[in-house]
Amino acid sequence: MAKKQTFADKLTKIKEHADVVKCSSCSQESVVTYAKYVESKVSEKTGAWKFLERRVQLCGNCGTIVG
Ligand SMILES: [Zn+2]
Repeated sequence: MAKKQTFADKLTKIKEHADVVKCSSCSQESVVTYAKYVESKVSEKTGAWKFLERRVQLCGNCGTIVG
């Protein structure tokens, strides 16, 4: 009984840290993977490079950006 309880606790903890989304690309519920996405742009006014860093969510199933 004690072992079962521990296992259940573990599962709960994993679920708390993982976001599950319904992916529109593969139509499946999948765990989100976070990735850092850096977008580089040249400013039209100054001609200088700009780097926009943002965090994206990837479908853990097919790898499509979901958010
Ligand atoms: Zn997907």
